[in-house]
Amino acid sequence: MSFVAEFDALPLEALQKRSSSATTANVRDALAKPRLTLAGFAELISPAASELLEPLCRRSQTLTRQRFGKVMRLFAPLYLSNECINNCKYCGFSRDNPILRVTLTVDEVVREARALKEQGFRNLLLVAGEHPKFVSKDYLVECVRALHHEIPGVSLEVGPMKTEDYRPIILAGADGLVVYQETYDRAVYAEMHAAGPKRNFEWRMETAERAYAAGFRRLGIGALFGLADWRLEALAVAAHADYLLRNCWKAQLTISLPRLRPCAGEFMPLTRMTDRELVQLVCAFRLMFPDAGLVLSTREPAKLRDGLIPLGITLMSAGSHTEPGGYTGAGKDHLHQTVRGKIVELGASEWATPGSVGRASSRAGSSTAQQNLATNATGQFDIADARSPREVADLIRRLGYEPVWKDWDAALTA
Ligand code: SF4
Repeated sequence: MSFVAEFDALPLEALQKRSSSATTANVRDALAKPRLTLAGFAELISPAASELLEPLCRRSQTLTRQRFGKVMRLFAPLYLSNECINNCKYCGFSRDNPILRVTLTVDEVVREARALKEQGFRNLLLVAGEHPKFVSKDYLVECVRALHHEIPGVSLEVGPMKTEDYRPIILAGADGLVVYQETYDRAVYAEMHAAGPKRNFEWRMETAERAYAAGFRRLGIGALFGLADWRLEALAVAAHADYLLRNCWKAQLTISLPRLRPCAGEFMPLTRMTDRELVQLVCAFRLMFPDAGLVLSTREPAKLRDGLIPLGITLMSAGSHTEPGGYTGAGKDHLHQTVRGKIVELGASEWATPGSVGRASSRAGSSTAQQNLATNATGQFDIADARSPREVADLIRRLGYEPVWKDWDAALTA
């Protein structure tokens, strides 16, 4: 049975109700349990549990140290392309957004990866919009093959593919696949994904299972917080993670908790999740899944990220750019603009002038030197923590943790 069938049978409303009506006594009981069910998880993310955030944080911290030690793994996203055939209302890369687009050549991808390697990274996440013409299976195979010998950890966050299409990418050296459901609320999902293959909710939901069947040994899931009620999303992510741990047990699982950030198109979040609620959710996930990796990106501000380091997060991005070519300026000579999905000549328009585009770089406060490196392609979203990888690593050390740039050896998970 796939997760879709389990998901459709989930008593989500009852779990939501259990969460909203939980008392502090229920939360204390859940906190004392050695192993949580979804019902206990619902209680830990309840409004009542907010009053017990301190003991929740303490348990999460203890468990994280027991299972992972005092280390923080670091990774960087490497955007290959911002072409996309989908219209997702919340995303800067949406097909109908009139933005500057580019797909990096394989050589440019290697250039970007080497720049990240110089900064210390040995674990990269290759990210691309969904566009079979520009971001084909063969293109991904070439990118991974070109990076494999220099970068030991290569994962992908790209449009969902068939099992057989994942296999050559794995053979080329990729070991992880990340796919967020975005929202587990079917009605909101239908509203947010107005056009393109991403409208298929079930196909996306089964992606992690297809990836596992193909041989990926690291799977990442998550929801984009800001589209539907955060507790409902969290319950669905927890159910999904539980399914994957039971059925795809050879894989390491990571859970991401991204909150919506400003992007081209100026979409405003539909729902709110406060910083305090994010902290509560990180800790609840840790108690529910003691061995799952919990991921935090540069979408969150520096101060909050620093506070979360000792509480349950195990994998962080740093110094991220969300535009292709953002680390070296690669691709700036073959940019194009699209209007409603169609390529238009840049000509003498303002888009053609380097530095004239408001969202040319997603790094707030970029220096002149950084602007000279800017690709001018549009980023997926604005980031909130603009510190360099070195600064983040130094901070991790000051907190008594060891920054780890390389992921675990493939030999350990084979
Ligand atoms: S969220 Fe992904 S699929 Fe949707 S528009 Fe952005 S890049 Fe494309």
